[in-house]
Amino acid sequence: MNCRTGCGACCIALSISSPIPGMPDGKPAGRHCVHLTSDYRCAIYGRPERPAVCNNLRPAPDICGSDRDEALALLAWLEWATRPEPAATQSGPVQPL
Ligand code: SF4
Ligand code: SF4
Repeated sequence: MNCRTGCGACCIALSISSPIPGMPDGKPAGRHCVHLTSDYRCAIYGRPERPAVCNNLRPAPDICGSDRDEALALLAWLEWATRPEPAATQSGPVQPL
């Protein structure tokens, strides 16, 4: 499938761990990328500073759904399903002070 014009759901719902110009720590899930325009286009499309993850993302029905709202819901679920496990807590006998 082709990317829907004026969607931008993946530029909001997904987290990006690599630095983005203007977002040096990447982008948390659910936050608009600073390069997402008001009509939901990428302001740095085709430019070398566009993150590789954005260049590599391929539109597909299972993430893009049939409309923007469905894409936002599917991508939010994907973020939740692939979130990192919390660090294991240290186990073992409690040392008395
Ligand atoms: S969610 Fe899919 S259709 Fe929407 S902007 Fe991203 S790739 Fe394009
Ligand atoms: S850099 Fe462009 S494609 Fe990547 S998240 Fe930001 S607006 Fe979307």
